[in-house]
Amino acid sequence: MTREQNIERWDSFLLKIKERATELFDSARGQAFTLFVESGNDSIPIGNALSAIRIQMLELCSKADDAWEQKVRDLLYCSGVHDDELDLEEKKRDQLRYTLESDFTVMEMEIRNQMALHIVKMAQQQVKTISCTQCLAQLEVPLHLYQSEHLVCKFCQTVNTYEPGTYQRMAGGFFHDIARWKAIEECKVEMEVRYALQQATEGTQQKVKSAHRIAFKAYCEKYLAELKALNPTTDTEKELSFEMQRFDS
Ligand SMILES: [Zn+2]
Repeated sequence: MTREQNIERWDSFLLKIKERATELFDSARGQAFTLFVESGNDSIPIGNALSAIRIQMLELCSKADDAWEQKVRDLLYCSGVHDDELDLEEKKRDQLRYTLESDFTVMEMEIRNQMALHIVKMAQQQVKTISCTQCLAQLEVPLHLYQSEHLVCKFCQTVNTYEPGTYQRMAGGFFHDIARWKAIEECKVEMEVRYALQQATEGTQQKVKSAHRIAFKAYCEKYLAELKALNPTTDTEKELSFEMQRFDS
């Protein structure tokens, strides 16, 4: 076989792996939400299903690695693909691994967002009115109420306790997923630059490193702004400085 034919075969082998992974991810997307609702809004079965899909995805990546090590490299070399050109062919499997990892992340975020929206909707239906135990005046229930809270009656100053319902309690734990999905574009950019950093040479490393920091910060800012919209008690500045400290260490 000619070098062109060998390269073409390698490309189509990698494409088949990519297609198989896309099938896996699409079928998970189709089934996950139903699984969540049918298990009584329990997120553990989904977590297990996603872990299983991740393992299958990693197995697909290993297939590409094995093919390269055991066969493709030698075939290409013998048909005249050498040095930089050979490196370029090897990089295709790294690119595939990156694509599958990031597609998996996006799929997982999308599914978790779907679950979170469902819980928040149930929680909103649970918001109840509450009357003062002392003077029976209607108390104002704050819009964002996902934990028990003391409400002071504006007529008699009695302190009343608001007890949220089950879904309201649950909702607080799902805000993270909604905010993350709203920051999906920033997240994709961050993943791309992180991958570019892995590929960077000594000469470009510093530049890509600072680009990665900018991308990570942009993601955190967007995520935290969205989180604050859902939960006004979020201290965005404190959270951001915590994230950046963690990033820099
Ligand atoms: Zn009162």
